[in-house]
Amino acid sequence: MLKKQEKEIVFNKELVIPERTELFESIEDDITEKADPYEMAKNQIDIVAEKMGLDDNITKYLKKVERSLIVSIPVMMDNGNLEIFEGYRVHHSTLRGPGKGGIRFAPNVDLNEVKALATWMTWKCSLLNLPLGGAKGGVCVDPKKLSRNELEKLTRRYTAEILNFIGPDIDIPAPDVNTNPQIMAWIMDTYSMHKGRAVPGVVTGKPIEIGGSVGRETATGMGLFYTLEALCNKLNFNLKNSRVVIQGFGNVGGSIAEILYNKGAKIIAISDITGGLYHKDGLNIEDLLKWRDKNCYLKDFNNSIYKFISNEDLLTIKCDILIPAAIENQINQLNADYISCKIVLEGANGPTTPKADEILNQNGIIVVPDILANAGGVCVSYFEYIQDIHSYFWSIDRINKELQKILVKAFEDVYKLSKERNFTFRTAAYVIAISRLAKAYELRGIFP
Ligand code: NAD
Repeated sequence: MLKKQEKEIVFNKELVIPERTELFESIEDDITEKADPYEMAKNQIDIVAEKMGLDDNITKYLKKVERSLIVSIPVMMDNGNLEIFEGYRVHHSTLRGPGKGGIRFAPNVDLNEVKALATWMTWKCSLLNLPLGGAKGGVCVDPKKLSRNELEKLTRRYTAEILNFIGPDIDIPAPDVNTNPQIMAWIMDTYSMHKGRAVPGVVTGKPIEIGGSVGRETATGMGLFYTLEALCNKLNFNLKNSRVVIQGFGNVGGSIAEILYNKGAKIIAISDITGGLYHKDGLNIEDLLKWRDKNCYLKDFNNSIYKFISNEDLLTIKCDILIPAAIENQINQLNADYISCKIVLEGANGPTTPKADEILNQNGIIVVPDILANAGGVCVSYFEYIQDIHSYFWSIDRINKELQKILVKAFEDVYKLSKERNFTFRTAAYVIAISRLAKAYELRGIFP
């Protein structure tokens, strides 16, 4: 590991790139933690349960998912070969309402990842006080390798396989990594064909033309912004000209990049799965968004002014605000001590491991946890769901006002508790969310 003094010298440079080989010495336990997000999610419950003196029975209950479905998805590929993909849908908790959570298509999806993501959805819905539980789904596939026809067949067959597991009163999926409004439209259509009537409320994140909500596509980015703005007001910190680094340039990373860029912040680095671009004076996000929307990767962006960097190096760039908005476990024990920012705003779900969280806290870095920071997506998904059920649609002004109201309230609750009890924001957010679930558990009791 680099010595503290060496680290400070490195951090004084514009671009901080610690020696990776030194970082990887003797930290095996975090690699185990990295490998299993569900272990990490359960570990987070234990940490909070101890701090809040949670009843052992409730802790035991919340550490299990209610039900998991594993399905095989046969798809006849364009070349005439049959491929069979594995898919999952998990309900972590329906204590406070029907399940809610996205569907992810990615090559590394497995049951434990989906269980972890479903668990985090439970906390998120509870923290926002939405009448929803936590669920998640995924298919182990690299969708970039499929034709449009294959992708549609995969989506429709996956929907058919989980048909009895989802529904407006049961569990309402939404987009997540590598899934989008078109995929939600295929899910809605497949479900509706089986029911013999249009059921728009079965899924959120749909195109507006078939019952989607205005503001859903940018909701997670807007939510990140409202939460960050509320925090900056407390800190007397001006976002204009602040230096921002973002990992991930998809729905979440792209939206928050665009919002902050338009507010005058400098996005000094941003990455996709192929790596990132860096410039000390800030990147032109409009140009990069146009490039991304042509289905192009950042590694191929031709610009001699920007420096191309790896995702690992991007995370340790000195900045004011670091926004991990790609996948889980990105800030871990291997790199946490080298993170050099004032605020980590978690756009992704589970981007920081519990051990890394401790290190960030010790280093005085404020972490706005995923279940608060990125909750704008589920919040507007909830608005979409109630609009569908009532067949009455809201304006973008109403969506953004209601979103801001709910998120600022959640932020204020977390802020107040963190000050009163000297908790980190993550602990405070978990305590609030889990307390509501504990109350629901107590009121409903255990059947039979
Ligand atoms: P997306 O598919 O639109 O974008 C993901 C981005 O991350 C892409 O730029 C991709 O290239 C990059 N990426 C993927 N794997 C990577 C890796 N190994 N290293 C670095 N970059 C990688 O997905 P999204 O919807 O933006 O979701 C991103 C994260 O935000 C996920 O953790 C998701 O669960 C979470 N989230 C999404 C929403 C939503 O509304 N979409 C809401 C809340 C949380």
